[in-house]
Amino acid sequence: MQIARPDSAVEKILPGVADFLDSQLTMVIGDQKVAGESGQTFPVFNPATGQKLADVPSGTAQDVDKAVTAAQAALNGEWSNMLPADRQRMMLKLADLIEANGEELAQLETLNNGKSVMMSRLIEVGASADYIRYMAGWATKIEGSTIDVSIPVPPGAKYQAYTRKEPVGVVGAITPWNFPLNMAVWKIAPALACGCTVVIKPAEETPLTTIRFVELCLEAGLPAGVVNVITGSGAEAGAALTAHPGVNKLTFTGSTETGKIIGVQAMQDMKRVTLELGGKAPMVMFDDMDMDQLGIAAGIGALFNTGQTCCAGTRIYAQKGIYDKVCDFLGGMVGSLPMGSGLDPVNQINPMVSAKHQNHVKSCIARGVEQGAKPMLNAGDYDGEGFFVKPEIFTDVDQKMSIMQDEVFGPVLTITPFEDPDDAIAMANDTRYGLGASIWTTNLNTMHRYVPQIEAGTVWVNAHNLPDQNMPFGGYKQSGVGREHGRAALDNYLETKSVCIALG
Ligand code: ADP
Repeated sequence: MQIARPDSAVEKILPGVADFLDSQLTMVIGDQKVAGESGQTFPVFNPATGQKLADVPSGTAQDVDKAVTAAQAALNGEWSNMLPADRQRMMLKLADLIEANGEELAQLETLNNGKSVMMSRLIEVGASADYIRYMAGWATKIEGSTIDVSIPVPPGAKYQAYTRKEPVGVVGAITPWNFPLNMAVWKIAPALACGCTVVIKPAEETPLTTIRFVELCLEAGLPAGVVNVITGSGAEAGAALTAHPGVNKLTFTGSTETGKIIGVQAMQDMKRVTLELGGKAPMVMFDDMDMDQLGIAAGIGALFNTGQTCCAGTRIYAQKGIYDKVCDFLGGMVGSLPMGSGLDPVNQINPMVSAKHQNHVKSCIARGVEQGAKPMLNAGDYDGEGFFVKPEIFTDVDQKMSIMQDEVFGPVLTITPFEDPDDAIAMANDTRYGLGASIWTTNLNTMHRYVPQIEAGTVWVNAHNLPDQNMPFGGYKQSGVGREHGRAALDNYLETKSVCIALG
């Protein structure tokens, strides 16, 4: 079948990328590339053109079962006998392989997800390699503690206790489409550092870089079955992975709705679970903010990845003294950002990931207008090829409107004035979400006074949307359960065993 690719793109498609797309794409179970039990496939698209890129296996419950069995065998085999230093060495090699294949991975991600190839290089490749190296360091630093105990029986007895940290077991990882490779790495790297094995199910929209990554895991020398990938739908492959009795821990990034389904299933089986879910992040801008930072607030805080990030600071609250200036600046800037294929690094507004998501964002904009918010840019519909949405900024927005309460996950902002800072914080917290937030001020007292009052897992000050591998990341309220990154992430992949020894 003819596969359409954007020939007109500024960056030429590398031969390795074209070859990968022309090959028969497979899942990886153990050390085998497999087409899956059903023999069925599903298409994945290039969001910049709307055309098909490749066909990918539709994984079934049977495939999931095989992958979990492979992961269990690996857990009890060679992998468990490896020294932490061996795991570390392999992870470092994996990071090197990601960089060595970086240009291909970056283009593949941009073709499949639509994002700017600059972002693919920086985040999907660069930050992923860094993340693996960071977690590789932890592989050799996992430790328990010695514990003094006061057990009084039998009289005169003495005990010594200590804790061991042991791998939780087989990890079922389910990832979203907005940062496909990076999210896979956020889950797989700490799992490997802790000695776990993994079955990953990438989002149906964007499975390509995860398939390639798992192939690289084998190249890096990870034993068969340590990392397996099942492609397929959430309803079938994702649900089968969630419910599989051989999975010990689930880690999920995605929508709050799906997170709740996975959380309920996890509790039924008492699987360990971490959920990183939706957001509706506020950016609270005080009169004394450095106005030169507005460009950063808009470009990185709100529109990074064309707004397709769970921390996107799309609810802007601007104090009365700067409100007009904020509206003028953002209106001018956002309305003039170049829009187009991510393969042209000049473009800062790239497509939505899918036709379905494009329709979702368009319907959020339409509902905003219907409910009486004022579209500052009056951008209107995009009617060319690909899944683009023209950015929009709403003013005159009521807190109760869906544009203020529901996650859009696109280039759509609201700007709301406030006079009293306490009102701004109340509005910022008036959401079921609590993932990220920021305050913008040059006054230290303002910062220290309001940071503790914000209900969010991460609060940036004069910055927004910048995670770090060493900084715990996760949500308050309906934005999730647990934390990723840093030392905190390791506990998600470890069980604590207490050992109590009666001394003779
Ligand atoms: P979106 O609505 O943006 O596609 P989702 O939260 O539904 O976000 O998807 C994130 C990930 O969850 C994807 O890999 C998807 O296939 C998976 N998924 C969706 N539904 C389920 C489900 N019922 N069980 C397990 N995984 C699911």
